[in-house]
Amino acid sequence: MIMSKQAKKIKKILIANRGEIAVRVIRACDDLGLTSVAVFSECDRTAYHVRLAHEAVYIGPSPSNESYLVQDNIIRAAKETGADAIHPGYGFLAENAEFAQRCADEGIIFIGPKPETIRTLGDKLQAREMAMKAGLPVVPGTDSPTDDITVAKKFASKIGYPVLIKAAAGGGGKGMRVVKSEEAFEESLATAAREAKSAFGDGRVFIEKYLVKPRHIEIQILCDEHGNCIYLGERECSIQRRHQKVIEESPSPVVTPELRQRMGEAAIGIARASGYVGAGTVEFLVDKDLSFYFLEVNTRLQVEHPVTEMITGIDLVKEQVAVAEGRHLRFTQDDIKLNGHAFECRIYAEDPEAGFMPSTGQLKNYRIPAGPGVRVDSGVVIFSEIPIYYDPMIAKLVVWGSDREEALARTRRALEEYRLSGVKSTISFHRTVLQNERFVKGDISTHFLEEEYPENNYGNYDDELMESAAIAAAVEKFLTERKISVSNSGSSHGRSGWVNYHRATGLRKFGGSR
Ligand code: ADP
Repeated sequence: MIMSKQAKKIKKILIANRGEIAVRVIRACDDLGLTSVAVFSECDRTAYHVRLAHEAVYIGPSPSNESYLVQDNIIRAAKETGADAIHPGYGFLAENAEFAQRCADEGIIFIGPKPETIRTLGDKLQAREMAMKAGLPVVPGTDSPTDDITVAKKFASKIGYPVLIKAAAGGGGKGMRVVKSEEAFEESLATAAREAKSAFGDGRVFIEKYLVKPRHIEIQILCDEHGNCIYLGERECSIQRRHQKVIEESPSPVVTPELRQRMGEAAIGIARASGYVGAGTVEFLVDKDLSFYFLEVNTRLQVEHPVTEMITGIDLVKEQVAVAEGRHLRFTQDDIKLNGHAFECRIYAEDPEAGFMPSTGQLKNYRIPAGPGVRVDSGVVIFSEIPIYYDPMIAKLVVWGSDREEALARTRRALEEYRLSGVKSTISFHRTVLQNERFVKGDISTHFLEEEYPENNYGNYDDELMESAAIAAAVEKFLTERKISVSNSGSSHGRSGWVNYHRATGLRKFGGSR
C-alpha cells in the first residue's frame, strides 16, 4: 500500500457508536494494532463494547439525543483521549455532514466521505439528480420537491398508480408513503410532508413510481482520495420488514457476471460524480426483467457489510482506515474475486409473535453458534442488559458456504445452535424463513415477507421452554438408562441400582449371598 504525501498514520480511533458495530470496529483496531476508545451512555456503562475497548469515555444519559448524538460530547471525548480519528459506525452521526465537518475543523480524521459528499448524497433529490447526470437509470419520478398539488397530481396520473411519496431527507425506511389511487393522493401528500417536517426537520417530498415487487440489490464501493474506485460485488437485501432489511446475502441469486459489471460500473459512476472517498453503498431496485434503477447512496459502512467481507476476503473496516489515512487502494478491480456465498440474519431483541415489539431485559442465557463458515458479530454477551433506548438489533449471524446451498445449510445449523433467553428474539423468524421453499429457490422480492407470512406466523420458539424441556428429557433418559442397564444385568429383576447395591452390601454384611 502506497502512502501519499499528505497521509497521516492513525494511532487511536474513537468509535462514536455502541452495540455490535462498535464491537466490530474495535476488533478491526485490535487487528491493526491501534488503540480504541469507546464512548458510552449511562445504561451502557458495562456494555460489551466498553469492556472490549482500550479506553472508554462517558458521554451522557441514556437517551441517544443526550449521548451518542451529542456532537460536543463526542468531540470532547476524542480530544480528551487524544484520538486522531473517529469511526462513526452506522446510524447516530454516521451520515451527519455537519459532524464530519466539525471533525475536520477540530483536526480529527472522520472515517467516512467528505462532508459535501455526505450532504449531497444524503438528500434523495440531489442524489437522484446527480445519478441522472452520471447516466444512471432512475425510477420514473419528480426531479424537484412537489409543493404544487395540481402539478404533483398530474404527474402521479402520468406515471400511473401506485406511486410512492418519499421524504427528500428520509432514511431508515422512514418517510415513505405508498398511494394506490388518485382519491388518496392529496391527503397522503399533505400527511407525508407534515411527517417529514416533524421527523427530519425538512418537509420536502417527491414522487416516484412504486415498482411492483422489485428486488433490492446494492453495490459495495471503495474509493481512495487519489481517484481510484472499485466495486466489491452486490448484496441482495430483498427480505425486508417495513422497508427495513432483515436477511441479506451475497451474491444475489439473480445477478449474472454481466449484470454485476453493469451495476458496478453504474455505482462507480455516481461515486466519481460525487467525489466519493471511503466505503459506501449504492442501492438499486431491480425489476423482474432485471432492469435496475438507482435508489440512493449510503455514505457509510452498512449493517450488512460482512456478507461482502465473507465472499471477497476483504476487511472493509481496515480498508476504511487505510483510505482515511490517505493511502492508495490496495486492490484494483481485477483483484476482486468473489468466492462462495454468504448470508446474514439480523438478530433483533423483538417478539415476532407480538408484531415484532422490541423486547427489553437481561439476557439470562446467551450461547452463540460456531463451526465451519460461521461468524457472529454480537454486541452482547450473557447477562447483558438490552435497553429500551436504542435499535433492538443485538447481533448478526453471518454464514459462509462454498455455494448457496452449503451456506443455507450452515445458516440453518447455526440458527438451531443459537441459544438466547431472557428477552424475545427473532431467531424463530429466521429459522422459519430459511426453510421457506421460495426463499430456498431465491424467488424473492421486497414483498416476500408480507406475501408469505401475512399473519406474522413465524412459529413459536421459546428457548427458555426448550431448555427446561431438554433438562427434563435428559434426566428422564438418564434414569431410564440406569434402569435398563440394571435390568439387563440379569439377576436384578428390574430393581434400581440403589436397591441392588444396598441389598448386596446388606446381605454381605450379614454373611449372606446375593
Ligand atoms: P431509506 O433511505 O428510508 O432506506 P430507500 O429509498 O433506500 O429508503 O428505500 C427503502 C426500501 O423501500 C427499498 O429497499 C424498497 O423496498 C422500498 N422502495 C423504495 N423506493 C421504491 C419504489 N420506487 N418502488 C418500490 N419500492 C421502493
